[in-house]
Amino acid sequence: MRAVQLVQVGKPLEQADIPIPEIGSSDVLIRVAAAGICHSDAHYRAGISQIDSLPLTLGHEVAGRVEKVGAQFANLAPGDRVCIHYLVTCGRCDFCKRGLEQFCRQVQMIGKHRDGGYAEFIKVPGANVFPLPNEISFEVGAIMMCSSATALHALNKARFKAGDSIAIFGFGGLGFSALQLARAFDCGDVYVIEINPAKLAAAASMGAIAIDANAAEPVEQIKNATAGKGVDVALELIGSAKTMRQAVECLGSLGRAAFVGLTTEAMSIFPYAELINKEAEIIGVSDHLASELPVLIEFARDGKLRFSPETLRAVDLDTAQINAALDALQDSIDHVRTVIVPSSDE
Ligand SMILES: [Zn+2]
Ligand SMILES: [Zn+2]
Repeated sequence: MRAVQLVQVGKPLEQADIPIPEIGSSDVLIRVAAAGICHSDAHYRAGISQIDSLPLTLGHEVAGRVEKVGAQFANLAPGDRVCIHYLVTCGRCDFCKRGLEQFCRQVQMIGKHRDGGYAEFIKVPGANVFPLPNEISFEVGAIMMCSSATALHALNKARFKAGDSIAIFGFGGLGFSALQLARAFDCGDVYVIEINPAKLAAAASMGAIAIDANAAEPVEQIKNATAGKGVDVALELIGSAKTMRQAVECLGSLGRAAFVGLTTEAMSIFPYAELINKEAEIIGVSDHLASELPVLIEFARDGKLRFSPETLRAVDLDTAQINAALDALQDSIDHVRTVIVPSSDE
């Protein structure tokens, strides 16, 4: 089968002709119909995130049709439309048994620690396979398994509930999903904090109150807009100490700040005024859980989570097109997502 692989860090991905994976009794073989090209893939190629074993087929955002099913998975049949949870875990350890599988010590990420979806076929454990309703395209089924799933996990970790107000710091892929998911939960007011005018306009057109962080101090703007009260939940999706501080500062009493963006910077807070006195919380968010995906898929089926066709761009399973898409991701500022749609020419 055709696959596009990372062979050497820092170099363009290469075309490979490799055998179709053999499946065991607990596996499912999927014919890839869509594989999202993600910002993290650009990081793997550039060597910003460490890859242990090469060559590797990238691609952790995958949807397709079941081709072959291991004996243990009678609930799946060839031809079924499915999407894939990208964390492969042992299923037996303490964390796995409690449904907190992102802490499994044997966790392997598809397209990072094992071959991913930049290929005609992918082998995954049956436990990672979720039915994809007909109402959701393969392209959306693929891309929502990454940033949308993590945005939902962030809202869950922040115990977000109907009526809560929310401040979303950063309106990239995560923020785009977080805003829609917050509305799916029947949220109160949503504030989107950004410096990019196009993103601010996009957030406003989706019903958010756009806060231009370049125009005035964003925490002041939120405090003014909430009559001094602050918000119930703040999501930090950028990964900077400055916006993490702002996320904490804009909280009201009993507010929860969930940090999703990655940074190695230190941040400081004033414990009395900012946490203790308000009984506020700062919550870390990492990846997402298999148990959250059915809710996400339902939101997408109901049209509460949408990616309009003009925000999706398809490329073939072609090294030149994929490398060009990864190049473009380095400095992308819009919401256009590139998805590999392998042509079925065999
Ligand atoms: Zn991704
Ligand atoms: Zn485990």
